[in-house]
Order: sequence, then structure tokens, then C-alpha cells
Amino acid sequence: MATIRVGVNGFGTIGKRVAAAVAAQDDMELVGVTKTRPNYEAKTAIAKGYGLYVPETSVQAFKDAGVEIQGTLKDLLGKVDIIVDCTPGGVGEEYKEMYKEAGVKAIFQGGEDHALTGISFNSTANYSESWGAQFSRVVSCNTTGLLRTLNPLDKKFKIKNAFVTIVRRAADPGDSKTGPINGLEPSVKLPTHHGPDVQSIMPWLNINTMAIKASTTLMHVHTVVVQLENETTTEEVLSIFKSAPRVRLVKSKDGIKSTAEIMEYARDIGRDRSDMYEIVVWQDGVKVVGNTLYYYQAVHQESDVIPENVDCIRSMCKMEQDGAASQAKTNKAMGISQ
Ligand code: NAD
Repeated sequence: MATIRVGVNGFGTIGKRVAAAVAAQDDMELVGVTKTRPNYEAKTAIAKGYGLYVPETSVQAFKDAGVEIQGTLKDLLGKVDIIVDCTPGGVGEEYKEMYKEAGVKAIFQGGEDHALTGISFNSTANYSESWGAQFSRVVSCNTTGLLRTLNPLDKKFKIKNAFVTIVRRAADPGDSKTGPINGLEPSVKLPTHHGPDVQSIMPWLNINTMAIKASTTLMHVHTVVVQLENETTTEEVLSIFKSAPRVRLVKSKDGIKSTAEIMEYARDIGRDRSDMYEIVVWQDGVKVVGNTLYYYQAVHQESDVIPENVDCIRSMCKMEQDGAASQAKTNKAMGISQ
């Protein structure tokens, strides 16, 4: 089978990781990425050997800065089968018409609304729904985290209700513009958008979410309380998590007590940029009482959606019909063990 030609529009936190993940697949070719400004990230893209393209309005700025480009975004669209839009939330929407006119498939990210595409994607929960689609949307980091654990639980036990509190990181590590830098900020508009976003993929699920922004950049942490239809045991739930795709169990008594040690662990196992693609569940923090399950999970916001984007490309471009086979291929290329 011919390789699928992929472009990435927006080379920030998510875009640079999607570009690297696509370049690591043997059935995909990374044709190029776009930057709006000739900054260090644009120069790094060139140094990595990526084709650098820019929106029409940025051509002069790159000329003035002496940073060489391969062409405009329009030129890039003429060379690819699919574009992964990784522009900031709300900006992707502005590009949809351009992608449509170019006859190119497009993946949007969780910062866009579900209504933009009418299909949202999570590899574990609904791989086949994006099969052959022109547009799809990979849900946000928190929604991906919730689907990775709630979907397998629902399949096995049937969930009556899920109550989630999300302790959100205030900014990404490379972002010096946002905060709070010292404080905890509750999201007062309730319930938060995370529950409805999970329902864009599992519409039958009763889920209620609240969120607090915390002064940290490393990861999000979820506290999850799930009421199941029937009574079960902690051991049975752990066996579900052990076999759930891209879920990693860790133990507090092994010294992984916080998100800080999870990031250190990611560095120790040789992950690029200390990325932790899996959702991390504290094994000794899982507890079942009757039909109520309690657990904590940590979400590496910069990276958990990256393998999802790769699988979404395979589904939309009809490259692999079996979601599990795509996941296995993506995982192998990215060094993810499960
Ligand atoms: P980012 O700000 O780090 O990167 C966005 C990139 O797009 C930057 O390189 C910026 O220069 C570029 N850009 C800005 N305006 C543009 C335009 N008009 N045309 C082309 N490029 C433009 O943002 P991010 O964190 O990578 O987020 C991208 C998307 O991924 C958003 O929808 C976001 O909600 C979603 N997402 C982010 C995270 C996260 O934690 N960072 C996690 C999951 C999903």
C-alpha cells in the first residue's frame, strides 16, 4: 500500500508531537508543517528536516527574517492526503473551508467543537466511526483520559453514573503567558464541558464533571467516582485496567506519589520530551465498595492525544480496518508497550 501523505497545520505543543509521531510510522509520510512566525520553533522544524510552509499572510515575515520556506499552506494542501490541524482552539474552524476546497481530509483537535465535524474520535471507544470520513476531531486530553478508562469499565460492568473532578494544569511547561502561578481556580460554570465532550463519543453515559485549575504545568489529575450497575471487586477492576489500551498502572508504594515522579519515570524509560502517552492510574488508589468504584488517574496533556491522531489518520484514510491493529502499529512505532 502507498504511504499516506500527511501535513500538520500549527507546530505548537500538539503539532510538533503529531509531526514526530507521523514521521515515525512506516505507512505515513510527513510532507510538511506550518508556522506563522519565523521563531525558534520554525528553525527547529527546518533543522529536523521537516518541510516548512506558512500561511499566505506570513510569507513576508519569513522573507524578512531570512528563514527559508517550501511554500504556503495552500501549496502544502496540494501535496497531502490529510492535514492534521493543530492550531489553537477555535482557529481550526476558520480553516475548514480551505481544507474542503483543497479536497483534503482534516483532523481537528479538542479545542474545536464537536459540531464542526459531527464525528469525534477516540481509538479505544469508536475507531470505526471515522472510517473514510473527510473530517473528524480527536477529543481533548482530559476527554481522552476519561474515555480510556471509562469505556472499558462500561463495556464490562455498565456504568450507572460517573462523577469526576479534574485538577487541571494551569499551562503547558513551555507556556509563560498563562496562570494562575499561585492559586487554585475552580471552573464555576457547571457542569464543565468535559462531561458533554465524553458524551460526544459515549452519548448514553451519565457523567458529571467539575474542574479546578492548579498552579502546575506537568499533568492533570482526575478523581473519579463511578457507580456500577452491579457489585464488583477491586481485583476485577484492576484486571480491566491492566488490559485497557494505553492505560498504565503505577504504585504509590514504588515511589510514584505524584505527577512529578510520573514525569521522571517517563524520562527514565527514554520517552521523547518526557512524554507519557498512557493514562496513569494509581493501582493502590483503586477501591471498590459495593457497587461504587473510586480511582485517581493522571493525564499528560501534551502527549496522550498524539497516538490517537495517528490512529485517526488510519481510520479516515481507510488504511487499517481493525482499531486494535492500528493501535498496535502506532504503539510499536512510538515505544508504547500496551
Ligand atoms: P499551541 O498554542 O501550543 O500551538 C498552536 C500552534 O498553532 C502554534 O505553533 C501557533 O503559532 C500556530 N498558529 C496560531 N495561529 C495560527 C494560524 N492562524 N494558522 C496556523 N497556525 C497558527 O496550542 P496547542 O496546545 O498545541 O493546542 C492545539 C490544539 O490542540 C487546540 O485545539 C487545543 O485545544 C488542543 N489540545 C491541546 C492540549 C494541550 O494541553 N496543549 C491537549 C490536547 C488538545
